[in-house]
Amino acid sequence: MRYYAKPLAKLIGELSKLPGIGTRTAQRLAFHLLEVDYTEAKALAEAILEAKEKITYCSICGNLTETDPCHLCDDPARDQSVICVVESPRDIIAMEKTGEFKGLYHVLHGAISPMDGVGPDDIRIKELLPRVQKEGVKEVIIATDPNVEGEATAMYIARLLKPLGIRCTRLAAGLPVGGDLEYTDEVTLSKALEGRREL
Ligand SMILES: [Zn+2]
Repeated sequence: MRYYAKPLAKLIGELSKLPGIGTRTAQRLAFHLLEVDYTEAKALAEAILEAKEKITYCSICGNLTETDPCHLCDDPARDQSVICVVESPRDIIAMEKTGEFKGLYHVLHGAISPMDGVGPDDIRIKELLPRVQKEGVKEVIIATDPNVEGEATAMYIARLLKPLGIRCTRLAAGLPVGGDLEYTDEVTLSKALEGRREL
């Protein structure tokens, strides 16, 4: 970074820490930010800080939210008898875009991955138990990613919930194996939801 003035090197350094941003892109973004109006750069900086300060996790489902509980948990029109378990808040967006699911969500914030040292206690599985034991919950749709970690997590949760008499289902085949729920198109995801199978 010796080619750059210190503040510029710092900016490039910070930008290159972002996911999917390599050094070249970080450099291009930094130069761009120096060219735009001061107010535009300030708006970006303020938006980052505002989001960091105001967005928190819903204490019920784990979704990202400005209010607690989040607008989904707080919506009396949503079907309280079905809970869809996902790995990340981004997956909620994908499910909501299908327009097919009207129940509640539960975000695990990860998946079981012994290779990475992530066990059942490291994700929000224990928070799920009191939720499903509430009266009226009939089905848990496990919509973890269709990869090794997602499948292992789905099996673990099903083994935990089935003795409680809860129906556990998994999104149907058609989802690309090894894929990511977040990047699945709406039609495929709708179909997978419709054809979910018993676990
Ligand atoms: Zn919530």
